Amino acid sequence: MNIPLKMNEPYTNIKNILPLIKKHYTPIWIYYYEIIKKKIQELNKFDVIRYAQKACSNINILKTLRKYNVKIDAVSLGEIERALLAGFTPNNHEIIFTGDLFDRETLYKIVDLNITVNIGSINMLEQIGKISPGHCIWLRINPKFGHGHNKKTNTGGENSKHGIWNPSLAIDTIKKYKLKLIGIHMHIGSGSDYHHLKKVCDAMVHTVLQLNQNIKSISAGGGLPIPYHCKDKKIDIENYFLLWDNARKRISKHLNHPIELEIEPGRFLIAESGILLTEVRTIKKMGKNTFVLINAGFNDLMRPTMYGSYHKISAYSHTGHLIKTKKTINTIVGGPLCESGDIFTQTNTGDVLTRKLPLLKIGDYLIFHNTGAYGASMSSNYNSRPLIAEILCKNNKFYTIRKRQSIIDMLKSETECNIPE
Ligand SMILES: *Cc1c(COP(=O)(O)O)cnc(C)c1O
Repeated sequence: MNIPLKMNEPYTNIKNILPLIKKHYTPIWIYYYEIIKKKIQELNKFDVIRYAQKACSNINILKTLRKYNVKIDAVSLGEIERALLAGFTPNNHEIIFTGDLFDRETLYKIVDLNITVNIGSINMLEQIGKISPGHCIWLRINPKFGHGHNKKTNTGGENSKHGIWNPSLAIDTIKKYKLKLIGIHMHIGSGSDYHHLKKVCDAMVHTVLQLNQNIKSISAGGGLPIPYHCKDKKIDIENYFLLWDNARKRISKHLNHPIELEIEPGRFLIAESGILLTEVRTIKKMGKNTFVLINAGFNDLMRPTMYGSYHKISAYSHTGHLIKTKKTINTIVGGPLCESGDIFTQTNTGDVLTRKLPLLKIGDYLIFHNTGAYGASMSSNYNSRPLIAEILCKNNKFYTIRKRQSIIDMLKSETECNIPE
């Protein structure tokens, strides 16, 4: 296979994937190591790259990132355990827990292992201060404005649950418990709206100057976009960096010492490395519409149903060749779930859309591109469908990094229960 180093480029054939299909069946997630590596290198100007693992939390992907000195963000106890299994340690703030609350189990583990916390509420400060005075923390600030047209992904402003609204109130609690304030964090996700990003950078500088605490770092958060659609422009990382670097310099000048600049991407590092390989199992006409139904559903790839997200789809014959034809038909692509929203071509308000695809046959393959982020990690067992396999391709060799879940494993936690008659 041509390794798709030129992102989004359709592969000419998937012949060397056919043995994988034999072994694991479809659908399968496949990730390309070389792309992950290239994406890390694109961010090398930032002092710290901290991966938001919720985008794709497979332990073997985390190990890959760790090899390139990427640090890690965890948002649950499970993600902390994944980071530990991948070899990250709580030392040097390698793992940071970010949240707007602690559940009790997570709080005790964090205190036990002394994991730095990015705090999103005053209650969290009180809770950790009481049992772990002197603990290392960051403050996640809500700058009182957000960004994004999708209400479900907005991370700032008064309709967002994230971050601290009034950080000066936090300072008293920090002092009370002698907590150690390491840095200030904002995750707004300006995308490639540089005018908006400038506003976020200014809000960061304003907050740090106003708080006037002796911090060591600032974090620009995540939200760096990738081109899902061929029309989408690529983000200008140089410009992104310059805006944040400028904010960092202003803060550094005010505090009179160097400030470390962190970035916290999820999607940017992993989305383009991944594809979802599926098989066409049913084709049916419904009035004027043609439905092509594949063997993956929104329990596997959630984004189109949840956000109306677009993923490029390419079609391959059962022999593994890209189906090249000028003649396309308007196709609605859906999955197997007993749920009418199980459609991969839809708007963010749930209206069906058509995609121009070649005339397909049963047994052809459809590949969903750029599904490395928020693909496997958002999957569920809905409709009692087991989680599918994840494969990592490195140097043209394939490694199973997650086995397909067996039905027995999926049902285990229920079958072991005995209720007396
Ligand atoms: C989800 C998340 C990120 C990563 O967002 P991307 O859009 O995937 O880059 C970074 N930081 C925090 C706190 C997040 O919740």
